[in-house]
Amino acid sequence: MEDRMINAFLIKYAEIALKGKNRHLFEDALIRQMRLALEKIEGEFQVTKEQGRVYVHCHSAYDFEEAVETLQKVFGIVGICPVAIYEEKGFEQLSQDVLTYMKEHHPGYCGTFKVHTRRAKKSFPMESMEVNAELGGCILDAFPGASVDVHEPQLNLSVEIRERIYVYSQTIPGPGGMPVGTNGKGMLLLSGGIDSPVAGYMIAKRGVQIDAVYFHAPPYTSERAKQKVVDLARLVARYSGPINLHVVNFTDIQLYIYDQCPHEELTIIMRRYMMRIAEHFARERKCMGLITGESIGQVASQTMQSLMATNEVCTLPVYRPVIGFDKQEIVEIAHKIDTFETSIQPFEDCCTIFVAKHPVTKPNLKIIHRSETKLEEKIDSLMEEAIRTTEVITVE
Ligand code: ATP
Ligand code: MG
Repeated sequence: MEDRMINAFLIKYAEIALKGKNRHLFEDALIRQMRLALEKIEGEFQVTKEQGRVYVHCHSAYDFEEAVETLQKVFGIVGICPVAIYEEKGFEQLSQDVLTYMKEHHPGYCGTFKVHTRRAKKSFPMESMEVNAELGGCILDAFPGASVDVHEPQLNLSVEIRERIYVYSQTIPGPGGMPVGTNGKGMLLLSGGIDSPVAGYMIAKRGVQIDAVYFHAPPYTSERAKQKVVDLARLVARYSGPINLHVVNFTDIQLYIYDQCPHEELTIIMRRYMMRIAEHFARERKCMGLITGESIGQVASQTMQSLMATNEVCTLPVYRPVIGFDKQEIVEIAHKIDTFETSIQPFEDCCTIFVAKHPVTKPNLKIIHRSETKLEEKIDSLMEEAIRTTEVITVE
């Protein structure tokens, strides 16, 4: 579609599910997230709410594709309708403008169509049914191959008569979901893998604002590995809005566990300490839950028994949105949200560096507890140190 005629977008959202006060919260959050997203691209955009509808008005030159792609990442949007706006100067001018619109956007149109007029400006001298009929006639005259079908038209031409005239005929699908900020905040455990960025995206889609924590183990894990996680956070932030990424230096804790505990229990014990530290930052940031990319049975640390052992140390709820997904299903979402290529960059991960040849797949909680008592002497101070030296990187 040509962009020079399009000077606004009508934003459709799932208002049916919204009642009373929730509706305002939903709309306000939607508008806030749209503004945040549009601020990042070239052009002057104004997001407004008029008579219960949300519009983006474009006040300068802009890139149509870029604007649409940006709006397609704002959760809560169900449809994006590119709108051409004309001055309201009576029916004669309206019919000419509608023909101009048709010629620009559907040149030589020869399918079926229907005109749907809404008259919000009651002082306009014709009723909407009359406008439908008259405009339909004009279009039939100008496009001899076209015909009217009011039940299942191939082209639905919407005309809204307000202070100005709004014309649109296309609805581009939005991402659905709920606007970020309508459902509190969660702390994502973000690794450099495929699963956790997808998990973050999925929870953000339910309206949850996200912060993140990444455990690295320099010098065993490199600066590049850390940069990859920062890059992933930035990719997720295109959907979720700004993320405060907590980069925790986990090396001393890992080495201490490695020294003190049976190696086949390393992964589980390490993951329990990750959860404890993540929970600390979750509380500090007023998050109401932790989020991980775990999926039942994917690896040894994700059997039901292992998940139970990891979960045991958490008092906040742990959300695992990909828990029932096969790898392939997670990969498909990773492609859709464009994190896959970054996730597969081959940098070492702190979990794989100290991993045992034969990790326990059915950890026994009593045994894990006993092993953890061997850490009593130093673990509290090591955790305090890790928390104290954590670097926070805000990505947007
Ligand atoms: P992913 O693809 O997300 O890395 P994975 O399949 O590699 O997951 P694990 O390594 O067992 O699985 O990690 C399970 C989950 O634990 C991850 O999805 C992530 O939420 C969290 N996690 C693992 N390693 C780290 C890390 N270094 N920093 C932060 N979170 C991590
Ligand atoms: Mg991983």
